[in-house]
Amino acid sequence: MIAAATAQRNPYDIALQNFDTAADALELSQDIRAMIKYPERVLEVSVPVRMDIGEIRRFEGWRVQHSTTRGPAKGGIRYHPSVTVDEVKALATWMTWKCAVVNIPFGGGKGGVTCNPKELSLREIERLTRRYASAILPLIGPLQDIPAPDVYTNPQIMAWIMDTYSMNKGYTVPGVVTGKPISLGGSLGRNEATGRGVFYTLQSTCEHLRMTMKGAKVVVQGFGNAGSVAAHLLDTAQTYVIAASDSRGCVYNKNGLDIPKLMLHKESTGSLVDFPASEAISPRQLFSLECDILIPAALENAVDGDNASSVKARIVAEAANGPLTPEADTILESKGIFVIPDILCNAGGVVVSYFEWVQDEQHLFWEAQDVYNRLERVMKSSYNEVLRLYLERRVSMRTAANMLGVGRVAEATKLRGLYP
Ligand code: NAD
Repeated sequence: MIAAATAQRNPYDIALQNFDTAADALELSQDIRAMIKYPERVLEVSVPVRMDIGEIRRFEGWRVQHSTTRGPAKGGIRYHPSVTVDEVKALATWMTWKCAVVNIPFGGGKGGVTCNPKELSLREIERLTRRYASAILPLIGPLQDIPAPDVYTNPQIMAWIMDTYSMNKGYTVPGVVTGKPISLGGSLGRNEATGRGVFYTLQSTCEHLRMTMKGAKVVVQGFGNAGSVAAHLLDTAQTYVIAASDSRGCVYNKNGLDIPKLMLHKESTGSLVDFPASEAISPRQLFSLECDILIPAALENAVDGDNASSVKARIVAEAANGPLTPEADTILESKGIFVIPDILCNAGGVVVSYFEWVQDEQHLFWEAQDVYNRLERVMKSSYNEVLRLYLERRVSMRTAANMLGVGRVAEATKLRGLYP
C-alpha cells in the first residue's frame, strides 16, 4: 500500500501563490485582485449516512464557488480521505482559471467529501451522495453551479446527484451535472475527455519541441480516468508506456507495458499490482525513471522539492490538478524540463463537460467524432495561445497559462463593472 500523496504543502497556498505570480506579470490593480482572487462562496455541510450495519456516521463535505463572473461555477466532486476545505478551495480556484484558459463560459467550483469510498458499500455511497447532493442543493443548478466527477466519483454518482436534484424540483434536470451516463443525457466522449485532452497537449508539445511521439518512453502516476485514458491513447500512438502506478503499487517493464491488458487487469482485480510481464517498483523509483514523458495523474504534491531533482523526463504533463509544488517547478525549470500546466493539460474534461451541458440545454446530441474534433480544436488553439505568451513574455508555461486565465477573468470583471 502506497501512502496517499497528501499535501506537504497546502494546495490553497500554492493556488494563491500562482495567482500572485500571474497577477504581477499582468500588472493587475489591487482592486481587481481583491475582486477575483478569493472564492465567492464556501459551503460546509454535514453528511450523516446510515451505514449498512444500521448506525449513523457523519461525513464532512464542502462545495466551493470560486467565481461566477464568466458563467455558472463548474467543477468536480471528490470523495477521498484527504479532502480538506483548503484542497476544495484550491481546486475551485484552478477551475476558474482553467475554464478561462479554454475560453468556455463557466467560472470555477469544486466539491468534496472527506471519506474513503473503498471502505463503503455501493448503497452507502449512494446514501452519502444523495445526502450530500441535498445539502448542496441550494447552490447547484444548470445556471448556477454544475458538478462533475473527480477523484473516486463517477457517472453513477452523477446520476444519483441528478436524480436527487430533479426529485426536488419535480422535473428532470439533466444539465445540473456533467459526466453523466449517456442514457441520462451524458455526452459521448466525456468519460475519456480528460485523457484525450492530455494527449492533444502532448501532441502540440512534441511539435513545439520538434520531437517524435512515436517511440517515446512514457511514465504514468495514477491509473484512473485521466491517467489510464492518456496512457491508452499514447500506447495507440506507438509510444512505450514503461511504468504506471495506482494507490496500491507501481508496475514497470522497460520494453513497455501492454496497456489494454493492464486496463483489464485493473478492472478485474481493482489494482495494477501483480500485473504479469512487469516488475514492482517503488513510487520513488517511478518518478526517477529515464523517460520522455512523465504524467502525474493522481493527486496534488506528487512531485515536490524532495523528489523533483530525480525526475529525468523531457516533458511533464500535469493530468492531475496541482501535482507539482512551486519548489518542484523551480527544480524542473532549472533542468530544462518542459511542463504542460494542469489548467491547460487536463482541461479536456471540462471542455467536454461544457459540450455535454450545451447538448443537454439544446436536447440535441452529437456524435463521438464531432466531440473529439471540437475538443481537439479547443485544446490546440488554447495550447497555442499559452505557448505564444510563454515565448513572448519569457515566463514559465504555468505562469503563461495563469496569465491567460486570470487575464480573461480580470477583463470580464472590469467589463461587468462588478465594483461594490
Ligand atoms: P480517478 O479516481 O479515476 O483515479 C485516481 C487514480 O489515482 C486511481 O488509479 C488511484 O489509485 C490513483 N492514486 C491515488 N493515490 C495515488 C498515489 N499516491 N500514487 C499513485 N496513484 C494514486 O480520478 P481521476 O478523475 O483520474 O483524477 C485524477 C486527477 O486528475 C485528479 O487530480 C483530478 O482532479 C484530475 N482531473 C480529473 C478530471 C476528470 O475529468 N476526471 C479532469 C481534470 C482533472
